Amino acid sequence: MRVSRRLAPFGATVFTQITRRAVETGAINLGQGFPNFDGPDFVKEAAIDAIRSGHGQYAPSAGIPQLGQAIAAKFSDFTGIAVTPLANVTVTSGCTEALAASFLGLLDPGDGVILIEPTYDSYPVGVALGGGVPSYVTLRPPTFDLTAAALEAAVTPNTRVIVVNTPHNPSGRVFSRGELETVADLCRRHDLVAISDEVYEHMVYEGEHLSLAALPGMWDRTVTLSSLGKTFSLTGWKIGWAVAPAHLTAGVRAAHQFLTFATATPLQHAAAQALAAPLSYYHELTRSYRNKRDLLVEGLDKVGFEVFVPEGTYFMLADHRRFGQEDDVSFVSRLIDEVGVAAIPPSAFYHDKKEGSDLVRFAFCKDEDTLREAVERLSKLRDLS
Ligand code: PMP
Ligand code: GLN
Repeated sequence: MRVSRRLAPFGATVFTQITRRAVETGAINLGQGFPNFDGPDFVKEAAIDAIRSGHGQYAPSAGIPQLGQAIAAKFSDFTGIAVTPLANVTVTSGCTEALAASFLGLLDPGDGVILIEPTYDSYPVGVALGGGVPSYVTLRPPTFDLTAAALEAAVTPNTRVIVVNTPHNPSGRVFSRGELETVADLCRRHDLVAISDEVYEHMVYEGEHLSLAALPGMWDRTVTLSSLGKTFSLTGWKIGWAVAPAHLTAGVRAAHQFLTFATATPLQHAAAQALAAPLSYYHELTRSYRNKRDLLVEGLDKVGFEVFVPEGTYFMLADHRRFGQEDDVSFVSRLIDEVGVAAIPPSAFYHDKKEGSDLVRFAFCKDEDTLREAVERLSKLRDLS
């Protein structure tokens, strides 16, 4: 095997590992976050129409104008900031590529990057690819709150970038205005660029989603990322985007043009239709996910977990210690093999693996029957403990 020194430390992603085991064992997969239901018909029909009408060649590198326009309009509606597709929007292959393009296009070797952990697994890899040096702010149960002191302690003389994810995977936090003000204050005082990953922007059950870019003085220093996957239950389409002021868009595009050059053309046409959905679409999405959240919170609670009720996203963390396993990895192994439910061991999201070892992450982007069946299987834990 030959893997570069930059990538060798990271191995196969926890999502790949757990989904493989779920498939092998027939466990209900509450691990990797993908819905077990399909996206809306009007979006699928739009993709079929786009393929039939011959949109089979390369799109412009930054995205087709119709999608750029739809992303710009949505961003402006939700943040109140006027943006144009030409100057400010880059369409990418999922938020994953937008993240990679941001790290590769904005970092110089040795630049410091603040990551808030538990951190989505691709952030530390993106920082490594960009030659950056991570420093960590650790959020801890039960509140997973973000404090000014912890942020300040992570700043080094080389810090140039901070990555924020709200609503936050895996804690389910929706950061408050006060917490985001603290981040904004840090950025302004230390002249940092913020990369704000907002892929769960429409899955908010408590509080409200705020875009970091909309805070005073932040538009000019923020790259806002999102994607179609979660909001339209089409994680396999891999349509994402970055919205940023022209000077930061330049960095994102410099990398994007050589990573993928452009993203699947017919799916971009369909994505433009998706983003034209009325507000009622988003309200219904939130309503349906709130029900799923409540169902799983109640079920896990009855089984005996200490559940940290998520304010947003389609994930929840719970404390597994009362079931007697040594750490999260052994707990999840037992869950898959003896209970028939797969989940994610959250130590994968911390640089110090001890931090996540008392926790387990469950995804609730599944139909309600599947969630009920999972709770039924999990109730076996009461006897096993
Ligand atoms: N950011 C976060 C926080 C995520 O949970 C995910 C999960 N898919 C992504 C980015 C990647 O998004 P995409 O599937 O659009 O690449
Ligand atoms: N975002 C998804 C999760 O957190 C996984 C995406 C992936 O498999 N890379 O579960």
